[in-house]
Amino acid sequence: AAVIAFEDVSVAYGGRDGLRDVTLEVAAGELCVLVGPSGAGKSTLLRLVNRLVAPSAGVVRVRGEDIARNDPIRLRRSIGYAIQSVGLFPHRTVGENIATVPRLLGWPEPRIAARIPELLALLRLDADLAARYPHTLSGGQAQRVGLARALAADPDLLLMDEPFGAADPILRRALRAELRRIHAVTGKTILLVTHDAEEALELATRVVVLRDGRVLAAGAPLELIRAA
Ligand code: ADP
Ligand code: ADP
Repeated sequence: AAVIAFEDVSVAYGGRDGLRDVTLEVAAGELCVLVGPSGAGKSTLLRLVNRLVAPSAGVVRVRGEDIARNDPIRLRRSIGYAIQSVGLFPHRTVGENIATVPRLLGWPEPRIAARIPELLALLRLDADLAARYPHTLSGGQAQRVGLARALAADPDLLLMDEPFGAADPILRRALRAELRRIHAVTGKTILLVTHDAEEALELATRVVVLRDGRVLAAGAPLELIRAA
């Protein structure tokens, strides 16, 4: 079944079109990559899913439910969100950053305490990092912690907006490999935005090409390469 369904969705920013008539489904377990030039509507499409953007027409369903009918706070807590700027809370340790959503969800403290080293290990980070503050981390460590935080409450759905955008090319490569491994291990549904076609083809189980607010093409990476 579709984890995300966009049904004839349009987004208008003032007079301007962000998205026009997009119909698209993302199935459970897909690593679906939205690719296209700047201004194509990729972030708009992603942010519809956690209601940071509202449609001006059409319906967005997550796990079968029209999200306009449900509480947006609950929705956001059920979806991992990782963005380019990482956005770690500077006055909280790495461990406290990772604990944010589990704590909001009311997880018992022992479960949260056990979850932190588990996530650090999943992201191949040293357990000692839990006590450190974000400003003491390297760029690559911060990106991994951002990903750990997005995964903390074990959401079945993960939204990623240029998650490796701030990394240098070598680190990007390592983080892509990491994401593919995590996707393979966890089977989570991932919707990821990039402007980098190479990154899209390398990561995706399905690629969706956007331009001018419309879906230009969608398919498995190999199908798209053959069609091009
Ligand atoms: P992408 O992520 O592919 O770069 P966006 O979804 O950010 O594209 O933007 C799609 C279009 O909507 C662009 O023309 C952009 O300028 C416009 N847009 C995006 N966000 C806003 C906003 N908050 N207010 C006005 N226009 C916006
Ligand atoms: P950009 O994509 O232009 O770099 P940001 O990703 O920094 O912009 O932020 C875009 C919007 O997403 C902002 O309105 C911000 O409040 C919201 N946002 C950023 N991070 C989170 C988060 N972890 N949870 C919920 N909303 C967020």
